[in-house]
Amino acid sequence: MVDADLEKYCAQAVARGARDAKEIHPSSVVTAPWVRLKCQFGCVGYGKGYCCPPDTPTPEQTRTILDSYHRCILFHIEVPHMPKKEKRYREFFDNLVDLEGEMFKDGFYKAFVMLAGPCRICKKCAKLEGKPCNFLDRARPCMEACGIDVYQTARNNGFFIKTLRRREETNNEYCLMLVD
Ligand code: SF4
Repeated sequence: MVDADLEKYCAQAVARGARDAKEIHPSSVVTAPWVRLKCQFGCVGYGKGYCCPPDTPTPEQTRTILDSYHRCILFHIEVPHMPKKEKRYREFFDNLVDLEGEMFKDGFYKAFVMLAGPCRICKKCAKLEGKPCNFLDRARPCMEACGIDVYQTARNNGFFIKTLRRREETNNEYCLMLVD
């Protein structure tokens, strides 16, 4: 059940492209040490962006952060294989960062959004040239980069997610707004 004061934000996210948005308790968000291992070994993006490990909070730090909140919103986005897939991601994530700002202005001063996948704002992250982030006000880390087990978190909250075999399959992605 969504608390009345969070209903409009869930509805806004759905209007802006989410398949669903649901209020959840932070204790249902799972953090685990193995998530960092998967970033460090097997992901070509490791160390190549400010929104990826090792520049992001460790699973232990993220647990502490999550435990300092009472409410979150989990967003589900379905992205089928299509020519403008990247554009769809960028627009949706941009909307969520805007939503974080709107919530802040509405009084939710702790609002903070975690996205999905690597930061997509710049074609090449400024980190690779040893420069500061180009969009410090807009860049947000993704859930998995902060050590969150996205699969278990989605399943704990009744959402669908599975590993994919082929690029043509539909992606089920999740983003998280820390609220209070
Ligand atoms: S906004 Fe650009 S420079 Fe900043 S983390 Fe994202 S890709 Fe890197």
